[in-house]
Amino acid sequence: MPEKKQELICYGIAASNGYAIGRVCLVRHDESFFVEPLDRNIDPSEAAGEIAHFHASLDAARNEILILQEELRSKADASDVGIFDAQLLITDDQLLTREVESMISNNCKPADYAFFKVVEKFVAAISVMPDSYIKERTADIRDVAARVLTHLQERQSGMMHYDDQRIILAHDLTPSDTAALDRRRVLGFAVETGSASSHTAILARSMQLPAVLGISGDFFEAVHDNDMMILDGYTGKLILHPTKETEAEYRRKMEAALVFFHKLASEKRLNAETCDGFVLQLSGNIENVDDVATVQEYGGCGIGLFRSEYMFLNASGLPGEEEQLATYKRMLQAMGSEAVVVRTLDIGGDKLDQALQRYAEPNPFLGLRGIRFCLQERRDVLRTQLRALLRAGVYGNLKVMLPMVTCVEEILEVRALIEELKQELRREKLEFVPDLQIGAMIETPAAALLAGPLAKVVDFFSIGTNDLVQYTLAVDRTNERLNYLYYPTHPAVLTLIANCITMARRHNIPVSVCGEIAGDPKFTPLLVGLGVHELSMPPVAIGPVRRVVRQLQMADAELAAQQVLECETPEKALEISMKMLRDVAPEIAELVAPEHV
Ligand code: PEP
Ligand code: MG
Repeated sequence: MPEKKQELICYGIAASNGYAIGRVCLVRHDESFFVEPLDRNIDPSEAAGEIAHFHASLDAARNEILILQEELRSKADASDVGIFDAQLLITDDQLLTREVESMISNNCKPADYAFFKVVEKFVAAISVMPDSYIKERTADIRDVAARVLTHLQERQSGMMHYDDQRIILAHDLTPSDTAALDRRRVLGFAVETGSASSHTAILARSMQLPAVLGISGDFFEAVHDNDMMILDGYTGKLILHPTKETEAEYRRKMEAALVFFHKLASEKRLNAETCDGFVLQLSGNIENVDDVATVQEYGGCGIGLFRSEYMFLNASGLPGEEEQLATYKRMLQAMGSEAVVVRTLDIGGDKLDQALQRYAEPNPFLGLRGIRFCLQERRDVLRTQLRALLRAGVYGNLKVMLPMVTCVEEILEVRALIEELKQELRREKLEFVPDLQIGAMIETPAAALLAGPLAKVVDFFSIGTNDLVQYTLAVDRTNERLNYLYYPTHPAVLTLIANCITMARRHNIPVSVCGEIAGDPKFTPLLVGLGVHELSMPPVAIGPVRRVVRQLQMADAELAAQQVLECETPEKALEISMKMLRDVAPEIAELVAPEHV
């Protein structure tokens, strides 16, 4: 009889709500994922894109090998470095390339599958050769092929050989890895790295994938592929080898959550209006144009943040003006008269892109990120994006906001560029919106302190608390070891937020919050009391936040916000907001209060 395995529990950081019960797909760094991808057919119209993606993946693998070779050159003798020459020959092999291209165009196969099949054929041919030296080269081929395949599949390779849905357990998932996950095949994921405000966590919430981050290495080592596991994204709990009783308990919890969210969904047409008549806008944060439908499904009244960089990450080439125009137009037309706020490209920090960035930076969060990157490094990309936005503006209620602003000059420079582009469009007789609204994201202490002057040159503020907390407290938002210091209710952060709201009022411009705290009911009483006009959040969070807003009295929330601003510690400030949440909406408080801290 097989040995009965002991139930093992681990707590990580609760990053995305929901439960997942299923078998594990284990992804280790050191593994070569040269496993057969899913065999499917593509539409002939997709062939060119697949071929471009194949070449981009070959290039990426070639660059990686060149870097490895360079690193080794300083440490090893020339014969070791030669190993990589053999590998480079494989990435440059014309015969292989042509066969893959032909399989994509003539047999309508996706690039990853075509590449896998062609490489297998090469390996089979070499394996039967009498020369043992050549035979040994099969390991090199598989090694390079695994590298190329990783790029082709953006790390989904580990998932490809399963027919059922899985819980992914990995050391790390970058934002691009996460964005590339196939929601139909993944139940949820747990990783060793990251914190609740990292982009990996944000994406998990957007994709409605339950997720736990920052799990211990010891737990990771105890897990094997195919093990049964329960992932509780509400509390950050992972249960390996659950007993029948535990599994039954979690199936009940899943059912209860489904009923509860179904009930919340029935309130989606109600205004987010406090008991004493103050109406807030609750809108959605999205990374993918298809998620407009999810925002509508949850009753959001607009898109408060479209993270446009995800059009660039994982793309086989840079999206051009027409392609971007089509995307924005689709979003605007779907939202009708409701506002769609597109944030210009925010590359840098933890969102890195080889196709866009020419240099690796030693400290990417403090480097050329967001609007700095666009103005300094890729003005060409910003021009294309702004042209597409100006043209898209005629299809709906479009607003544009700029990330990582630290000074007035950045806004003025973008405004000047917009004027130049308008002239260009006029000359080309292309239709565009003449009065595009421009907003500043307030996500650096500099911007928050400079809110007065900034308010004079923009049409709205959107407070990005994810970064504002990171930069104010000098706490890397992606570092799980600093999670204990990442406090959105730190007095320094609250003072900055309050300053923005005061300045926005003084200059009569609206202010929204689009950082993750906007969708966390713990902070709703506080943010309502501080007087923000709009909260923009992952679509799934709209229901709970709406319920809280509707139970609040503005006068009470304002009083609580005043008390919060006088607190000297983050814990005390949070407790005031939490207490109000417990008083007005205990059922929501129960949902967000972790059972283990
Ligand atoms: C923020 O910083 O709060 C924000 C909304 O932007 P992002 O999370 O994409 O950095
Ligand atoms: Mg940000």
